[in-house]
Amino acid sequence: MIKKIGVLTSGGDAPGMNAAIRAVVRSANALGLTVYGIQDGYKGMVEGRILELDRFSVSETLGKGGTILGTARLPEFKEEVVRKRAVEQLKRFGIEAVIVIGGDGTYKGALELTKMGINCIGIPGTIDNDIASTDFSIGFDTALHTIVDAIDKLRDTSSSHKRCSVVEVMGNRCEDLALWAGISTGAEIVVTLKSGFDEDEIFSRLNYFHDVRKKNHAIVIISEKITDVEQFAKKVTKYTGFDGRATVLGHVQRGGSPTPFDRILASRMGDRAVELLVEGVGGQCVGIINNKIVNIPIEQALETHRASNKELYKVFERQV
Ligand code: ATP
Repeated sequence: MIKKIGVLTSGGDAPGMNAAIRAVVRSANALGLTVYGIQDGYKGMVEGRILELDRFSVSETLGKGGTILGTARLPEFKEEVVRKRAVEQLKRFGIEAVIVIGGDGTYKGALELTKMGINCIGIPGTIDNDIASTDFSIGFDTALHTIVDAIDKLRDTSSSHKRCSVVEVMGNRCEDLALWAGISTGAEIVVTLKSGFDEDEIFSRLNYFHDVRKKNHAIVIISEKITDVEQFAKKVTKYTGFDGRATVLGHVQRGGSPTPFDRILASRMGDRAVELLVEGVGGQCVGIINNKIVNIPIEQALETHRASNKELYKVFERQV
């Protein structure tokens, strides 16, 4: 049986990554394994910035946002020669297998490392929920809470001033943050890559809400990278009865203490990832489907595309 494993966080940070690191350390220790924390993702792996983590190293981290291991992007990790240096570093510490916490890109690195003889297991850690092989990734629920809290506050001030708040949220490739926030806040309009973006249609709907429904506020939630929300808000002022104001929530969405849902998800996924390595499995990632922790090959996970959530769009449209 393997004796030493590594753990790292990579790509964009997400609340609950620490809960996942803690889970890996505690479950691995319980099964008699030694755990090494690799700093700053694959960058720290290549540079040999690796330190042993015992159960006390992860004390009081369950509720902390960010990642205690740090995260970085290292595009050069796509090159075999760079990965060979990483494998040499792992061997220097006697690390036989690694758990990686991150998104799609992080999974690709894990797959390549597995092919080079280091079994790796991926844990989905990204606020965007853009990994289709799992119902939820760690951090999504917390980011959703942050967005809902912010929009509830914007709604208070929008109502007082008869404004239309145009709110940009993260998650360009994945509609979930925008759509779930739209339902949670009773937003008037949600714009995602999948819903499409027709300015004239949005203006006429806003005028309907203003003139016919007599609403004294409106919330438009837009996924990032679809349009310049500052410019769009100016057009709202010009072409509708509302005074348009833009808010880009930005990086506040990445921070904060993880919700209980994310802490539990991270704890369950971390535990399963350790079990898989003990079983000698590599090149797989864990996920949650219908509240069951599952594992599937990374290749399959990367090929899976999430279908548009028609049921959620229906619920949203009917309740505006
Ligand atoms: P998020 O998209 O949520 O920020 P991510 O894991 O997809 O997370 P990326 O920046 O795409 O973030 O990838 C993280 C790291 O994984 C990269 O910096 C790189 O070191 C490694 N990586 C990405 N793609 C590959 C690949 N094809 N082969 C090997 N390593 C890769």
